[in-house]
Amino acid sequence: MRKIIAVLFLFQVSYVLIAQEPAKILSSVFDEALTDRTAYNNLEYLCKHTKGRIAGSAAAEKAIEYARQALINAGADTVWLQKVPVPHWVRGIEKCSVTSSLNGEKDLAITALGLSVGTDEHGITSKVIEVHNFEELKTLGLKSIHGKIVFFNRPLDNKILNSFSAYGGAVNQRTVGPSEASRYGALAVIVRSMTQSLDNFPHTGVTRYADSVNKIPAVAVSTLDAELLSQWLKTDPSLTVHLVSTCRNYPDTLSYNVIGEVYGSLKPHEYITVGGHLDAWDIAEGAVDDGGGCVQAIEMVRIYKKLGIKPKRTIRAVMFMNEEMTGTGGKTYAEEAKRKDEIHYAALESDRGVMSPRGFGFDADGPKLEKLQALASWFSPYNIRDFDKGGGGSDISPLKALGALQISYMPDSQRYFWYHHSANDTFEQVNIRELQMGSAAIASLIYLVDLLDL
Ligand SMILES: [Zn+2]
Repeated sequence: MRKIIAVLFLFQVSYVLIAQEPAKILSSVFDEALTDRTAYNNLEYLCKHTKGRIAGSAAAEKAIEYARQALINAGADTVWLQKVPVPHWVRGIEKCSVTSSLNGEKDLAITALGLSVGTDEHGITSKVIEVHNFEELKTLGLKSIHGKIVFFNRPLDNKILNSFSAYGGAVNQRTVGPSEASRYGALAVIVRSMTQSLDNFPHTGVTRYADSVNKIPAVAVSTLDAELLSQWLKTDPSLTVHLVSTCRNYPDTLSYNVIGEVYGSLKPHEYITVGGHLDAWDIAEGAVDDGGGCVQAIEMVRIYKKLGIKPKRTIRAVMFMNEEMTGTGGKTYAEEAKRKDEIHYAALESDRGVMSPRGFGFDADGPKLEKLQALASWFSPYNIRDFDKGGGGSDISPLKALGALQISYMPDSQRYFWYHHSANDTFEQVNIRELQMGSAAIASLIYLVDLLDL
């Protein structure tokens, strides 16, 4: 009996020790993140010196070199570049004005959609037809649409609490709207910017033409000017818009993913990937989308090295290239992993901004999801409580086929689309404390997922 009690006592002591250790480590991770400015300084550099780093640009090349050096400075055991084929799209001259015999004349704040084709330097002058969805297009048909500019003006639904869901409910106007309008003979497309904010920043983003359609020029208009255009159309349906957008697509070129590793101490041939995307739209500094996600991954490396945290598995910080246009960074990374027969245990993406951390999303079910959700207790001292089903991201999703658990970092989403894909996505929008809290949360979560073999 005494022996059993002794064993039970020992079990209890060791359990308490195991339970205490991660809490102490998490505390030191948060202390380190919250008292160091390296990640914030890295973000400032990316924003102010590699602004507009869309894949294929000189700014992107400069960002790659900076990220490589930042990973070396963070103490990564190895840092390397991985070749990625990328499109090469270049914005041109952009002008847009509306002329109404009733209301007068006004310039509209526009920006070409990524990968869109352009007009010639003289542009297009045409009547405009406003629609809100593809059913309306179909109802109007060739007769009403042919030879006109189609204006997609369905706002994000403000009743939807999660901003990403609201965006998801409107973004098809941008991604496939130009193709759909082209089927009915439209000359060009103007799409309302994908933001809940009413302001004068046009928000770009990629459009994807179907193979079967004639590619037509496509631009986004600021939400304020979308409102104005819509109002004018109500009183004067025969108003005209003059649109110039001389962007061009050039042959594909080569760029790189930037990868830094902290070697695993027990299972070095199993990998956990943590990343964001290094490319950003050409009109943006790319602070919240997604310089923040990149510097948080670099910061994880720095924190592990500074605190002497030795993960069991090899942890990779990956700055993916070309998330914004065709996602070849994520695809290439997974293809290479498959070719090398690598074991990918888990992957976390931070590409939902760097506002205050709320928690994480996990692409898991049943007992596995329950175990992951139980991790929330470690984070309650930091007010990080949302451990929900539903994880992933465009850069890490190709790793799913290799069995990697998909995890999303989930900061508060309310302000993200104010900045997303616009000239309003600047370094000044990022709060250092929120960025640091996110870095600490990510480094802590990855530490636990690795330690507890989740
Ligand atoms: Zn992004």
